[in-house]
Amino acid sequence: MSIERIVMHCSASGYGTALEIDRWHKANGWNRIGYNLVITNGIPSYDCYKLKLRYPWGNGQVEWGRAFNDNNIIEPNERGAHTLGLNSRSLGICMIGGKDGHGKMHDFTPEQFHKARIVLVHLCNVLDIPFTNVIGHREFNSAKECPCFNMDKFREFLVKPQNIVHLIDHGEERVWVNHEKDRR
Ligand SMILES: [Zn+2]
Repeated sequence: MSIERIVMHCSASGYGTALEIDRWHKANGWNRIGYNLVITNGIPSYDCYKLKLRYPWGNGQVEWGRAFNDNNIIEPNERGAHTLGLNSRSLGICMIGGKDGHGKMHDFTPEQFHKARIVLVHLCNVLDIPFTNVIGHREFNSAKECPCFNMDKFREFLVKPQNIVHLIDHGEERVWVNHEKDRR
């Protein structure tokens, strides 16, 4: 089937990589990671999470989950497992962050949002998908909180990158500090 939508997700963790999520999803009994792409926050592992270590070069990295090519057809090996009822007609992108296992919110980084925008502008162009068809998981399944950021503001941001300020939550105390700042 052809790709109609791109679905945004969050990992609901303060840390992670495609490799780490591949482990989590295999533990669910799946054969591999369910997302097509992962955008990392620079905190790759639980050890780094505990130590509050954020690696700048890993902040806003795009990693393959289930890789896909640039045509509009989802082939069997490209088909993700991320949005029940929509997997054969969509791609799934996971932003590391959101809610941790204890219900505490974690900020996504500006670097993640900027990279997500670069990726989505490209994908929507190549795959001929309007920005209105970039949706959040909870917009398809209202029982979900995922992706834990405001999708209306996110879609505005795709058109106006200066609107990044509306996506980053400054109201909440930041849990994570930059490694460089930490050392000062
Ligand atoms: Zn989701």
